[in-house]
Amino acid sequence: MRFSKFYAPTTKEAPKDATLPSHIFLVRGGFVEQNGSGLYNFLPLGKIMLEKIKSVVKEEMDKSGALQVDFSVVTSSELWKQSGRFDVFGKELLRFKDRKENDFVISPTNEESAVCMVRGKVTSYKQLPLNIYQINTKFRDEARPRFGILRGREFVMKDAYSFHSNTDDLKREFDLMEQTYSAIFTKLGLNFRAVQADSGAIGGSGSKEFMVLTQNGEDDIVYCEHCDYAANIEVATRAAKTTDKPQPEADASKFFTPDTKTIKDVAEFFKIDEYYTIKAVIKKAIFEKESKIVVFFIRGNDELQETKAQNAAKALELTDATEEEISQAGLIAGFCGPVGLNKVEFFIDNELKDSKQMICGANEKDYHFVGVNITNFNEDRFKDLSQVNEGDRCPKCGGKLKISKGIEVGHIFQLGDKYSSAMNATFLDENGKARPFIMGCYGIGVSRLIAVMVEASHDDKGCIWKKECAPFDGMIVISNLKDENCVNYATKLYEQAKNIGINVMLDDRNERFGVKMNDYELLGFPYAIIVGKSLADDEVELIQRDGLIKTKIKASQALDELKNRLC
Ligand code: ATP
Ligand code: MG
Repeated sequence: MRFSKFYAPTTKEAPKDATLPSHIFLVRGGFVEQNGSGLYNFLPLGKIMLEKIKSVVKEEMDKSGALQVDFSVVTSSELWKQSGRFDVFGKELLRFKDRKENDFVISPTNEESAVCMVRGKVTSYKQLPLNIYQINTKFRDEARPRFGILRGREFVMKDAYSFHSNTDDLKREFDLMEQTYSAIFTKLGLNFRAVQADSGAIGGSGSKEFMVLTQNGEDDIVYCEHCDYAANIEVATRAAKTTDKPQPEADASKFFTPDTKTIKDVAEFFKIDEYYTIKAVIKKAIFEKESKIVVFFIRGNDELQETKAQNAAKALELTDATEEEISQAGLIAGFCGPVGLNKVEFFIDNELKDSKQMICGANEKDYHFVGVNITNFNEDRFKDLSQVNEGDRCPKCGGKLKISKGIEVGHIFQLGDKYSSAMNATFLDENGKARPFIMGCYGIGVSRLIAVMVEASHDDKGCIWKKECAPFDGMIVISNLKDENCVNYATKLYEQAKNIGINVMLDDRNERFGVKMNDYELLGFPYAIIVGKSLADDEVELIQRDGLIKTKIKASQALDELKNRLC
């Protein structure tokens, strides 16, 4: 492609609401342009990336045996009423009426359409399993569309739906999809982890999210340096903390501890490690119709993980309790402990279960108990409440845990018979008995991936595409169009590269050299060959975009050099 014939309207202007590099560079580089809140057009460069990602996704999905289909983007609300989602989906579902006053929705996801595609047609267990997928437009009226195409309202998703006669077969497909997704994200050159995300009704292994590790992201991901353990921080666990510091010695005695309100004060007062103290975190838990004070007890050197705490209390939200609310609940801030506590609801962190010789508040001003054993509490008091920190030990292999921001690019889910039962979609099993299909569903954020690639790889000048998946492999820049030798050499190199399958762009625009270089850095193709004055001495410059590493090479070896680096 010759840049002079291409359409990539680059600009220095960043979108006003942009905070993330991917949003800024994709708009400034003319990959995408906004045409409404959460709505984007894909310009040629954006479209190239979209198609490249689609083709990687398609190749691997096809390899897995899944079959590509297309569901209509506009779906009759009748299907959504059958599944029961028409009324409960909330405002993300865009509903509208046609000229005959019939209700329709624009697909935010397609479980209903998928069930409808097989219902009454797949009638026997012999026709199972079946996995159908599409790569298609979705619309979700997101409450906060932001970060450009990372969270748009209209976006492209790969969504697959599988049908099985039993859960074992669903699990087999789930594992196959996990492998397929790993192959896709590896091919795209991404540093990703499959994380346990959902500890809710379906359980950890029933749902996995694929997160790309990035500097900016909406989620915090805990992952192990040594094994494949990875989890969203909201559900991450660790091997229990230990210590070799001496434990306090006392027999649950009450000590006068004036003004020792913080864990640090207590540890200093008794000259023991914070490991042997119990911290009380007092919160106000908000429920649909009421709110109440709840206390969470964790180890003194831990912090409370808010989402875990919220789930433990089954609350809609947790807020900090004010001093007034704490004393109204009959608690004494700084001296609150689980022993003899009966005025409020409380939970204790799993790791404190059966711990011995602990120090905790005595629920009396200026007093602590020393030598307490956390043994005689009801089982349902114990919950996972503490936050995993970097350096904690992996629950699987004991290796060191690390934490990174992450962006969700895929989600695989064991659905079971939720939709097939609701929509009365059954098959006949080996015994001729009608059973609802057992289903799985599997999504990938195709358009989001373009932004994720930039989030994962950029510098302050622009995108740094990985050679695995870049809009072009390289750029050949002619520094001065008036220099005929340069033009001839660059054009020949461009043709030769194309002939051997290296997809380069020739910057043959009549622009200043500085403009061309800025555009190269912004667009961020993996390599550039700069053809300038030194061509007379058989020399050109090779730039590796990642790190902007510049090397002088022999002009006659430029093609080989590109080939070596790219192939
Ligand atoms: P999120 O928690 O980010 O809203 P989700 O759980 O709603 O995601 P799914 O319904 O599992 O997402 O959709 C599958 C994939 O589609 C996600 O993993 C994500 O990559 C992508 N996706 C979801 N919502 C959007 C959006 N608004 N814009 C772009 N991509 C999206
Ligand atoms: Mg969502």
